[in-house]
This record gives sequence, C-alpha cells and structure tokens, in this order.
Amino acid sequence: MIIVDRISEMQALMRQYHREGKTIGFVPTMGYLHEGHAALIDRARQENDIVVLSVFVNPLQFGPNEDFARYPRDFERDRHIAEQHGVDVLFHPEAGEMYPGPLTVQVVVKARMDVLCGRSRPGHFDGVATVLTKLFHIVMPDRAYFGLKDAQQVAVVDGLIRDFNFPIELVPVPTVREADGLAKSSRNVYLSPQEREEAPALYQALRAAAAAVDGGERSADAIRRLVKEHIEAHTHAEIDYVEVCSYPDLAPLETLHGTVLVAVAVRFASARLIDNIILELPKAHRQED
Ligand code: AMP
Repeated sequence: MIIVDRISEMQALMRQYHREGKTIGFVPTMGYLHEGHAALIDRARQENDIVVLSVFVNPLQFGPNEDFARYPRDFERDRHIAEQHGVDVLFHPEAGEMYPGPLTVQVVVKARMDVLCGRSRPGHFDGVATVLTKLFHIVMPDRAYFGLKDAQQVAVVDGLIRDFNFPIELVPVPTVREADGLAKSSRNVYLSPQEREEAPALYQALRAAAAAVDGGERSADAIRRLVKEHIEAHTHAEIDYVEVCSYPDLAPLETLHGTVLVAVAVRFASARLIDNIILELPKAHRQED
C-alpha cells in the first residue's frame, strides 16, 4: 500500500494508473475506520483495479460548535485496516495541504440541503461538496463509494456529480450495523454505557416504521409520530428530527409513495447520532388506496 500526503504526488500517480488503463475506485472517509468503511472498501476492491482510500477530517464541514477538535483519530489503526482490506493507495493529507489559505471559490449546495442534517448543520453540505470537488480532482476516480447511512450525503453527491459533470459513477452502499441494529459510526465511541444501550432504539423505531408501512400505513405524519414515540419511550436522547421524504430529491411527503426515506437524528449528552431506512413503495398514489 502506498501512502501519499501530497496532492501533486497523488495526481501524478493517478494519471499513471489512467495511462495504464486501470480503473480507480475511491472511498473518501474521515478515518477512525470501522466495518461500515470496510464495506465500502471491499465493494471498491471487487469492482476496480486500484482502490484509493482518503482519510481526512475536513474542517470545512464542521460547524463552530461541532466536534472537529475531538473527532476520533488513529492513523496507525486506519492504515492497518486499509492494508488488510487491500487498499492500494491511502491519501492522508494535512489540513494545510488541502487548504493552504482561505478559499477563493467554494461549492454551495442549492438543493437537497434545507432538510434533515442540512437544516440542523448549516454549511455542512457546502463543506462536504467543496472537499469532494477537490478530492475528485485529486483522485480522478472512475467510481466513488458512499454509505447510505448518510443518505442525504449520497443525494447531495449525486447532484454534485451530475451538475458538475464529474465522469464518476456514484456507488451507494447499504448501512453496516452492530448485532443489535445500531448503525456503525466513528462517533459511537462517544456514547456512555447507558447511551450505548439505548442507541439501538433508533433502528428499532425505523423497523417499526417499515412494519407499519408494510401493514398499509401511508401517512407520513403517522410514521413520524410512531418513530418519535418509540425513541422517546426508549431513550433519554433529545430528538433533532424525524423526517419522511422522497429519495433522492428529499422533498417533503404527506402520503408515502415511490422511494421514501425515513430519517432520524438524535442528540445524546455525548453524541449526535443519525440513522435512516429507505422504503420502496408503488410510484403513484392510487385513489382507491
Ligand atoms: P465518515 O468517515 O463518517 O465521513 O464516513 C465515510 C464514508 O463511510 C461515508 O460514505 C459514510 O456514509 C460511510 N459510512 C459510515 N458509516 C457507515 C456504515 N455504518 N455503513 C455503511 N457506510 C458507512
């Protein structure tokens, strides 16, 4: 595995791979790798000649009161996991390499950002879209792998790739969970033992929503209520949002139809957690339903 921390070195290496006719799969992360990241790497490994992993905690996507400074970091561990999963190139730039001075141009996300985490974290997706624009130009991948745990991020990246004509195939990867259903996250290490015990209630609430929809429930309000009540009954967390919207457009829904995202974010004392499920329903709502 080659470890690169310079942008110019990375671009030279990537151009060489392209000249050799090799396909490049790219997995962008903020490190502190877990099985969720590994699932992205494994998928990229199956589908490409070269797998590039980036580990970069991007200051631009954190708000002033968020956890940038204390975000967990362990490069030696990440490097070991990357190697075990067959990563070819690990890109690990310093913040000063990515942002040598104030930006003169920034990417601003115009749609799919005024709901869910975009509403709770102003500027977050501008930071994500800006760093990904840079990373896409640095890595020049054929495919880029993103986890559906961050479904809104997948929707925003889909827009970025289309609108800016990146010749990149977006590959969404299903959420990897702990045995008790909790979505794997680098931030789970913040949880106290009691919060860790309560946290699976998020996914349980989403499963209950899926079961209600299976049973014929089509009211977005009823689904929101059900998820909220389950979380309130089983955790001490403060609910940030429970939303039901179309996917990937993230438009609000009153009646469920088509591809539907049910998403939740909660604040425990020590960590903000998110989770979601995507449900496939018949496209048009029929009168007789
Ligand atoms: P992060 O390091 O949190 O920025 O995540 C890097 C990538 O890994 C993103 O595309 C995430 O959506 C994805 N990811 C994080 N957690 C999971 C998970 N539990 N299952 C699948 N993908 C995940």
